[in-house]
Amino acid sequence: MSQKKLRKGIIRTVQKFNATALSMGTSGNVSARTKDGFLITPTGIAYNEMHEEDIVFVDFEGSTDPSRATPSSEWRIHRDIYHSRPEIKAVVHVHSHYATAIACTRQEIPAFHYEVALAGGDTIRCADYATFGTQALSDNIAIALKDRTACLIANHGQVALGHTIKQAFLLAQTVEVLAKQYTLSKHLGGPVLLSEEEMKINLEKFKHYGVKGK
Ligand SMILES: [Zn+2]
Repeated sequence: MSQKKLRKGIIRTVQKFNATALSMGTSGNVSARTKDGFLITPTGIAYNEMHEEDIVFVDFEGSTDPSRATPSSEWRIHRDIYHSRPEIKAVVHVHSHYATAIACTRQEIPAFHYEVALAGGDTIRCADYATFGTQALSDNIAIALKDRTACLIANHGQVALGHTIKQAFLLAQTVEVLAKQYTLSKHLGGPVLLSEEEMKINLEKFKHYGVKGK
């Protein structure tokens, strides 16, 4: 896909953040892989004031053109994901309400619903806390994302990966819906969790679903 199309796709996606309550203000960021690095949303520009030229190119060493906008302070998370996961083409990071609320308790989302398997495993893990924008935070997220395509981030938010920007965005939305449903079910006395066997079946079914859905 051309850089122009990716820039447009990134802007379209952040502009959906407010409408879908995935993130507010200037929090959250979106990126897409290119041949020699990735394109990412800039820091400090409101979603509805973002233009194609504000989307920043960052290479795999973390270098950017100093004459352009400054990339999101979380660019390390995106770079490290693209570096270690060649199949991933897009990353969405948001501070959505319910996912963040659970992340503030530093708990993972267990196998309370079959769609937990959409994130690649029988839980959605919560990455350990580290200061925002640091390499330590990116390292903690890499651990929580092992064999997964989404995780919560302690006292911070969530991150979702995809083969396309749209897929990463939809997964972030799914994680937020699951976080809300899990929170509600806890209020009703706590969910009955699915067995390891059931989750294996769900993971297998989603493997085929994912291929078809591309
Ligand atoms: Zn953040």
